Amino acid sequence: MLTVETIDELRTIRGSLEEPVGFVPTMGYLHDGHLSLVRRASSECASVVVSIFVNPTQFGPQEDLSSYPRDLDKDLHLLKNAQVDLVWIPTQDVMYPDGYQTWVVVDKISRPLEGAMRPAHFRGVSTVVAKLFNAVQPQVAYFGQKDAQQVAVIRCMVADLNFPIRIVTCPTIRDPDGLAMSSRNAYLNQEERKAATVLYRSLTAAREAYKAGVHEAITLKSIMTDILASEPLAHVQYVSIASLDNLTEIEGVFDEALCSMAVFIGKTRLIDNIELRKESEG
Ligand code: AMP
Repeated sequence: MLTVETIDELRTIRGSLEEPVGFVPTMGYLHDGHLSLVRRASSECASVVVSIFVNPTQFGPQEDLSSYPRDLDKDLHLLKNAQVDLVWIPTQDVMYPDGYQTWVVVDKISRPLEGAMRPAHFRGVSTVVAKLFNAVQPQVAYFGQKDAQQVAVIRCMVADLNFPIRIVTCPTIRDPDGLAMSSRNAYLNQEERKAATVLYRSLTAAREAYKAGVHEAITLKSIMTDILASEPLAHVQYVSIASLDNLTEIEGVFDEALCSMAVFIGKTRLIDNIELRKESEG
């Protein structure tokens, strides 16, 4: 496994990699969710490139950029065991040198949900992913369903800007009690970690109700908010049932939807989602 920092080094090694090249962008502090993307890339591609970059432009001024968990040695160990070919760890200067002023803005799909709560977030995400794609030039790139709106934004960017890259969405990997794996789970103390299961409990209740024939968005949302309200450490930022096509909120009955939420457990902001579909398990 090779590790590089600069774009010149990256391009040199990239040129010698066997294609198709699969690419997994990450912010590090890797867990089994990230590794599931790496494994999928390994199973489908001849070479695998992973980037580790805590992208400052996707954090708001009051957010956790400075405290975001980092453990590069452990990350490299995990990636080596997963037989990754190349790890790119750019510095902030490599990605955003002095004078940097170009942004990629994906318009409508970036606005609701996470975009409404974190105003410059998706501008930072789409910009950094465009830069990573231009440098790595993968044939396939892997993203997690855990960040459902992020994948929707990236898919839209790739289509609109004609990147010759296939985007693969991988299922959310969860701890045995249902909590979606996330680098930010490291912020939770023991009591908060227990409380954090309320996100998946409420999503599961919505899924069960939907399966039992409750197809009205407002009723499903109240089932979820009631469960979230029963957990004293949880403070809901939003609970949404939105169109899978454009992420606009659904008011009445529906055949398929993204059911998503952002909830503070203490000071830690967690997001999670499931898809609900009439004809499948959801
Ligand atoms: P991050 O390091 O949080 O930016 O995540 C890097 C990639 O891993 C993104 O595509 C995430 O959606 C994905 N990811 C994060 N957590 C999970 C998870 N629990 N299951 C599946 N994919 C995940």
